[in-house]
Amino acid sequence: MGEARGRVIQAWSRQGTQPPPRIVGGEGCRFFDAAGRSYLDFSSQLVNANLGHSRTEIQEAVQKQVATMATLGRPWDVEIVDELADRLAEITPGDLNSFFFACSGTEANEAAIRLARAYTGRDKVIARYRSYHGSSAGALTLTGEPRRWVGEPGVPGVVRMLDPYTYRCPAGHPTPCPVCSGAPHLRELLQYEGAENVAAVIVEPITGINGVIVPPDGYLRAIRDVCTEHGIMLICDEVMTGFGRTGSWFACDRWGVVPDIITCAKGLTAGYLPLAAVAVSDRLSGWLQDSVFPYGLTYSAHPVACAAAVAALQVYQKERLVERADRLGAVIEAALRELAERHPSIGDIRGSGCFWGIELVTDRATKQPLVPFNPGSAAAEPMTKLTAAAFQKGLYLLTHWNMIVVSPPLIIDEAEIREGM
Ligand code: PLP
Repeated sequence: MGEARGRVIQAWSRQGTQPPPRIVGGEGCRFFDAAGRSYLDFSSQLVNANLGHSRTEIQEAVQKQVATMATLGRPWDVEIVDELADRLAEITPGDLNSFFFACSGTEANEAAIRLARAYTGRDKVIARYRSYHGSSAGALTLTGEPRRWVGEPGVPGVVRMLDPYTYRCPAGHPTPCPVCSGAPHLRELLQYEGAENVAAVIVEPITGINGVIVPPDGYLRAIRDVCTEHGIMLICDEVMTGFGRTGSWFACDRWGVVPDIITCAKGLTAGYLPLAAVAVSDRLSGWLQDSVFPYGLTYSAHPVACAAAVAALQVYQKERLVERADRLGAVIEAALRELAERHPSIGDIRGSGCFWGIELVTDRATKQPLVPFNPGSAAAEPMTKLTAAAFQKGLYLLTHWNMIVVSPPLIIDEAEIREGM
């Protein structure tokens, strides 16, 4: 190599002077740095390494596809892409049997919104405040949390709804309040926005990075029913919650709710290659057959990424990892409750399957958050210190705002859960 040195710009984080450790490998639920230290991955990287690290099944599938044909895209008939669509149709709820493929959750959400607008002929999209939907112009506008601010004013037509955040009930009522029960708040918004102008409501069925918020039972069903009543598309962003993470294939399955569109990514290839899918209902798919919907990326349905996804789905199924995540949910919850007894700074724990959040407060009685809801703020320092201290001890944790996201690979065992706690 010559003299020049390239610099990689890190996503979202401040460009500090301290370089992160160089990671040289991983196996199962652990990864290793160049100095030989090992880290327990308690958050599956960015909640995507659902199957842990260095799975030979996925390596082999990827190698095989690269050797066969790596660069073939649509319009060709590609066997591995069709196989992936068949396998997805087996696990997606209801009649969500047709798929667009993209490379990231961001792109999947962009496509979903565009499709909902084209299908309904309406402009507005309702999204929630405590949400993250991606980092392109449209997906960042859908995003409700403060990372959106840098992209404002964003794309027109996005209207925001409050979250069913019972721990800090946004309406200040005892549960179920008009917000936490879903329908009354949505109906009120529709009255002001005009239901006939609203193309879609997009929600993370269990909120991810912005609080691991599990809505009260009945919430998602109520939102579904209001959408159906007004011909509004319900989009479930399952980018983080899909593929067994919450103890069912998709989080919406937990309440038996079938949206019109599901977007998913991360766990689809268990993080091995970039791939995302937009699953659409038979009704939408039928409409698409008679319409021109301009959509496509050079790397849509890349055969190598699809091969990784097929191999990942086979592992989920062979090792019954969705059932395993469901079972481990009780183990993680019990361990977290025990942790909460010893640490008064834990205000709340909540989650499902292998997807849990620990919310940190300065005072349990007042629920004063340990850091304010603004990741850019210098007040975020306690969380930075916390993750650094955990990392020093060989534990990798994903944190955001005043939340620790406990989301280990679905293959984690009970001894590793105890170790991480
Ligand atoms: N939607 C949700 C719920 C996410 O958690 C994320 C990423 O974390 C995205 C969308 C964006 O996905 P990507 O980073 O693959 O673009």
